[in-house]
Amino acid sequence: MPERPMLRVRNLVKHFPLGGGVLGKPTALVRAVEDVSLDLEKGESFGLVGESGCGKTTLGRLVLRLIEPTSGTIELDGQDLNLLGPREMREARRKLQIIFQDPYSCLDPRMKVESIICEPLRAFNRQSRTRMRERAAYLLSKVGLREDDLKKYPHEFSGGQRQRIGIARALAGEPELIVADEPVSALDVSIQAQVINLLLDLKEEFNLTYMFISHDLSVVAHTCERIGVMYLGRIVESAPKKMFTSDPRHPYTRALLAAVPQPDPHLARPPEPLEGDVPDPIDPPPGCAFHPRCSHAVERCRRERPPLSELNENHSLACWLNEGRGHWGE
Ligand code: SF4
Repeated sequence: MPERPMLRVRNLVKHFPLGGGVLGKPTALVRAVEDVSLDLEKGESFGLVGESGCGKTTLGRLVLRLIEPTSGTIELDGQDLNLLGPREMREARRKLQIIFQDPYSCLDPRMKVESIICEPLRAFNRQSRTRMRERAAYLLSKVGLREDDLKKYPHEFSGGQRQRIGIARALAGEPELIVADEPVSALDVSIQAQVINLLLDLKEEFNLTYMFISHDLSVVAHTCERIGVMYLGRIVESAPKKMFTSDPRHPYTRALLAAVPQPDPHLARPPEPLEGDVPDPIDPPPGCAFHPRCSHAVERCRRERPPLSELNENHSLACWLNEGRGHWGE
């Protein structure tokens, strides 16, 4: 019998109602996440990539149950999070943590670093103050900061150091799954690689599972073993990193890959036109949502939405172009 995935998401939907019309009824719906299903194995790092507004951050927050889904299920270690009572949910919350994008706003400026890191310890494990302090000092050392830093306030640190504090806080409750939501995009380029390498080291050391959210495909390709591409609330391609970079099928994936700077001009990918912006999720285009921007679109793409189908055991794709073909069509 195949092993149960650590995280199992099925047919997840999140619509945000807009405006108050007659009798308070919403006048429109923002379709942020539409029918997303995915599995994460324990110890895996799964990257979710797409342009801003594609729904990846909403999906991350749904998985953490920071927001409630419109429909669909999220199972963690076989437990449906929607069915958990307050006590069980508290334990599930300990296993689920988040690293935020903005290291400037995610730390309370009035709290010392010790209090910031000890916050989850106070919430989840009842320990003496001395034990909590020891644990906070240990976690700071793991993220490359010193015990002395426990007494300081967030404004005394650089952006990269603040993100390290945010990472230490996420580790405090001994989580199993960490959703890292654009964890390096607010940092200087020179610091990004350090923080990414730190996250990779910590993953090994603490046997963590990551859902790594980014608009930057090169960051996700460096960090993750498997990648899902999101477009207008749906996953349109999902594959192991190697297959993803060697044989991408979806025109949107190919456009994202072509946009990644390639230092060797001989290895550079041919340009894929990607014009315009992500369409309005209040009024998504009919058929394939990517068709207004796709240079390969045919009549069927404008009428029918391609389902996410398995090309093989590891590779799923939502595009009519590949139907019945062994290859992308070149
Ligand atoms: Fe392009 Fe059609 Fe494939 Fe959509 S289904 S990505 S429009 S070729």
